[in-house]
Amino acid sequence: MKPIKSVKIGSVTLGQGQPIAIQSMTNVNTADIPAAKAQIQALSDAGCDIVRLAVPDEAAAKAMEVLRKSSPVPLVADIHFDYRLALMCIERGVSKIRINPGNIGGEEKAKAVAEAARKAGIPIRIGVNGGSLEAGLLEKNDGNLARAMVESAKRHVEILNRYDFDDIVLSMKSSTVKTTIEAYRFAREEFPYPLHLGVTEAGTYQDGVVKSAIGIGALLADGIGETIRVSLTDDPVREAEVARRILKALDLGGNRVQVVSCPTCGRTKIDLIAIAKAISDAVENIPAKLKVAVMGCVVNGPGEAKDADIGIAGGDGCGVLFKKGEILRKIPENQIIPELLAEIEKMIKE
Ligand code: SF4
Repeated sequence: MKPIKSVKIGSVTLGQGQPIAIQSMTNVNTADIPAAKAQIQALSDAGCDIVRLAVPDEAAAKAMEVLRKSSPVPLVADIHFDYRLALMCIERGVSKIRINPGNIGGEEKAKAVAEAARKAGIPIRIGVNGGSLEAGLLEKNDGNLARAMVESAKRHVEILNRYDFDDIVLSMKSSTVKTTIEAYRFAREEFPYPLHLGVTEAGTYQDGVVKSAIGIGALLADGIGETIRVSLTDDPVREAEVARRILKALDLGGNRVQVVSCPTCGRTKIDLIAIAKAISDAVENIPAKLKVAVMGCVVNGPGEAKDADIGIAGGDGCGVLFKKGEILRKIPENQIIPELLAEIEKMIKE
């Protein structure tokens, strides 16, 4: 694999061992400044490091200036086809542009965007989408969509490189999980640029979560990807929450408490599902690297969760508290949640 160039998106750096950045996209009208502002804030609160906004017209491009001034995170302008909107957004101080230089109507326009972005010191993301490839590319690659996507990316990259522009992020999204994974793997071999991972048109919440977790997760597990966007037909705040969970599941989530809990079985004699949910919700935003186990029984609980820092294992109407696999004391069922949370807090302070 080629060494990855580092790319700066405002205060966020991609590549060079930096944490994987989470991003999402607003779904309100960008020109509706109060609504867009509120959503940017909500996304930042939910853990987004970068927020992208659609810029379909001049009103949206103008709004980007106001929005980026008040935004707690770097903003990216998402532009299709109209290079003038890209120039307007660059002038207005956005931190990145998403545009495909091969689709904006000619070399002169691509050159103008590349030069303006270089002058402003901001990167461009080339977003290849399996559903909208240039004519003939699929046939040329014997029907291999992933290969065709890489060729499309190459064409766009070459245009920017011709104008001495190298501050590039790439995405290779397909609505098919397998094609997405394949395309990103090829892209990592081919390009030295940070990759923005995502499965596009992943669907409504449940399908989208599964597809994104498989597609993004498989790539991250192989060390591929510098920033991620989960696409859901749902509130974008939920995209950020799912992205965080994907990172946490791969131990890439930085300082976050990880809760492991058993699936329950016939040995479970407490309301473990409710307890696990309450603990999980309560620690969701605690910035600490801690593993908490919530297990249904003492037979397998402490043993199965011995790599956890702290946890409980259910008994008959009670739970036993354990730390690093060592049993400390018994707790009545109705006290499990507050006592476990108090112990977690204590451990974090220590
Ligand atoms: S930890 Fe105990 S209750 Fe939970 S699944 Fe395993 S055996 Fe069943």
